[in-house]
Amino acid sequence: ARKPESSIPNPDIQIGARIRPILPDEAAEGLVAGVYPRSASLSAIADVHELRKSVRGQPGLTSSSYTVDCVFGPDDSTGDVYKELVEPLVPWAWGGGVGTLFAYGQTGSGKTFTVTAIERLVAEQLMGGQLEGEREVHVCIFELAGNVAFDLLNSHKRISILEDSFGATQLVGATEHTPITTSALLSLIDNASAFRKTASTDRNAASSRTHAMCRLRIANPAIPAADDGLLFLVDLAGSEAARDIAEHSADRMKETREINTSLSILKDCIRGRAQLDVGAGKGKAPYIPFRASALTKTLKHVFDPAGARACKTAVVACVSPSVVDAGPSKNTLRYAELLR
Ligand code: ADP
Ligand code: MG
Repeated sequence: ARKPESSIPNPDIQIGARIRPILPDEAAEGLVAGVYPRSASLSAIADVHELRKSVRGQPGLTSSSYTVDCVFGPDDSTGDVYKELVEPLVPWAWGGGVGTLFAYGQTGSGKTFTVTAIERLVAEQLMGGQLEGEREVHVCIFELAGNVAFDLLNSHKRISILEDSFGATQLVGATEHTPITTSALLSLIDNASAFRKTASTDRNAASSRTHAMCRLRIANPAIPAADDGLLFLVDLAGSEAARDIAEHSADRMKETREINTSLSILKDCIRGRAQLDVGAGKGKAPYIPFRASALTKTLKHVFDPAGARACKTAVVACVSPSVVDAGPSKNTLRYAELLR
């Protein structure tokens, strides 16, 4: 009901919500699950239950509903998320298409848990020898802090994001590895995520304050002139509002504003892209502000309407089940349902 009238569903963008289980620490504090999924036939509805003081001062449970394509509950595995949302992207990119996965949500909602497990499943599917033909798989893994990119496969070396004279995005200074076995790709993925954790501890910064991206470029050596297939797996920075952040230093506030601006630009780009596909030839082209953030610049292949490639996009909106997180959970599900 909250969707704009003009919104037309686009089959190339799939939005899922994943509600993680209550964690042992939360259970120990007596926190209860307030968010739970409900399935419907055509789409899925994620309910958010929230404790509110009623008029008589007694706590009462209120709820809101949000519509997405699919909902995964605390008992669903990352494999279930993978099958539904990510698996189709792999043969698609193998065949030369562009596939993108985003995990969105507040810090602690399960983004990194979900994306790291999905990266491993992608590695197995890509390198497992089941896909037709010969391909070379090249991988870059980096994180974006504000508008600056750092290499997670090379000691956090700074990377420049530039557009070349052909209009392609170049990650200048990024190391690109070409693993030839599943285990080689898996160890790159594991090293990058371990490195992201230590790098953020060393800098006294939280890894939840950066966007992490794994870019897999899939080249077909038999057709050197063909466009490479691309898979982008993106673990977004935490979407919490400034008021939900404990530390109120000027740097922290600036960082939070930058993150929220980049997430808002991302929303405009995903929506614009979804409209571009369904509205081709009908009325004016949507405005896609992909040059407005470093994150969307690195995703130029997905968002630039001039060179638009065939794209499939999946978004996992990650949600904490706890009633104390109801506010951020609602914001996450609202963001998710507005994407298409
Ligand atoms: P985020 O990256 O969004 O800040 P994390 O992925 O780090 O959140 O998850 C926060 C905590 O919850 C971690 O301890 C993680 O292991 C746990 N967790 C997240 N999702 C699940 C899940 N589906 N099942 C079990 N534990 C989970
Ligand atoms: Mg994280």
